Amino acid sequence: MIKRGKPTQHRCSFCGRGEEEVMILVSGMDGQICETCTEKAQEIINQELRKAGVEPPVEEKTGKSSKFGGPVELIPPKSIKTFLDKYVIGQDEAKKVLAVAVYNHYKRVSQQMKINEDGVEIEKSNVLFIGQTGTGKTLMAKSIAKLLNVPFTIVDATVFTEAGYVGEDVESILSRLLQVCDYDVEAAERGIVYIDEIDKIARKQGNPSITRDVSGEGVQQGMLKMLEGAEVLVPPQGGRKHPEQKLVKVNTGNILFICGGAFDGIEKVIARRVNTQVIGYNKKEFEKIDRENLLQYVSHQDVKNFGLIPELVGRLPVVVHLDPLDLDALRRILTEPRNALLRQYEELFSLENIQLILEPAAVDFIAEKALEYKLGARGLRSLCEAVLTDAMFEMPTPTKSAEQRQLIITRAYAEEKLERSRMGRLKAA
Ligand code: ADP
Repeated sequence: MIKRGKPTQHRCSFCGRGEEEVMILVSGMDGQICETCTEKAQEIINQELRKAGVEPPVEEKTGKSSKFGGPVELIPPKSIKTFLDKYVIGQDEAKKVLAVAVYNHYKRVSQQMKINEDGVEIEKSNVLFIGQTGTGKTLMAKSIAKLLNVPFTIVDATVFTEAGYVGEDVESILSRLLQVCDYDVEAAERGIVYIDEIDKIARKQGNPSITRDVSGEGVQQGMLKMLEGAEVLVPPQGGRKHPEQKLVKVNTGNILFICGGAFDGIEKVIARRVNTQVIGYNKKEFEKIDRENLLQYVSHQDVKNFGLIPELVGRLPVVVHLDPLDLDALRRILTEPRNALLRQYEELFSLENIQLILEPAAVDFIAEKALEYKLGARGLRSLCEAVLTDAMFEMPTPTKSAEQRQLIITRAYAEEKLERSRMGRLKAA
């Protein structure tokens, strides 16, 4: 045992453990700190530095250059939601459910690290997002990973095929995660993977493809073990496995998988279930159902009926629905988030010493068009491009002008530019 400082003091002032229970006890003026609490304090400092946008120094002890050092700090669900509010507009219910799932997931991870005395094992809480395209599914997953400072990757379920067919093996999901954290396996093992378009591998009734099992059970079966937690041999460069390749062993037990998909047509499945449930019950219950947004009633049963195999659904215990974006949400997405689209354009123009001002009526117009074209938030970007391209083409000068200029976008200007753009012509046709 190593002791420094005053020999008469016996307890860590932070955790209260006695000197016989710790390895190192460092004494200060009025108290002591043990090696475990020192580490914890360092983690808190790192987390605070990251929140302030400063990258903390890489830990020496791992010897790895990954920027994802140290265990994940447990952030309470309310704080997770507050953080998500800065980036994601609306989707309050989804944020809440996700915050709880993520908190529980990392609590489970930290519980495993300690010796579990009562033998209760918390099960994994992988998440399934269901919502139209461009409603913020990927954005939410990405934002969570940013907050927790864990490795994060997005993969598309449609590129996977059953082993033996042309395409990528399911294991290559983990190759991407490894690549993100410079092959720091420990960091990858507590990362987050977002699997997009999970609905596209739903089992299809009839019409199976004879060339490729892009859809269906093969891929779903392949994913089961990985989602649940298993030692998986991963080809470091991704793609297909081949015999002479060196494989890296990754344990997926603590990786959080978030799957997402639009599940086009699931409303019909929900409607069928809700209708049959309501028959025979009182009429008031039936009238309470919001038929405009049936997705909010989605259940595991519906996802199964849609075509995901029960085993897969069982490994995605948290189902979250995302609401379609209305006009107000689209308008707010343009202006409010940390890196809102209009803020980005303002920044682009300010680099040319031009102050970009979008009148509120012009913002309304862009939001209305995105809603009309049914493009979700994804459409906002193309609409802004259509409106601002001419200005971005004409206004920059070879030498940056010293005097500041202003570009004011009115609704009439936005209407005219959109009308003349390819996008406007396309929609008018
Ligand atoms: P998907 O639901 O298809 O995964 P994304 O999360 O990729 O959609 O969203 C596409 C883009 O639209 C994002 O880059 C983001 O800027 C914007 N977006 C979508 N939904 C929201 C939202 N609720 N709040 C803020 N931005 C959003």
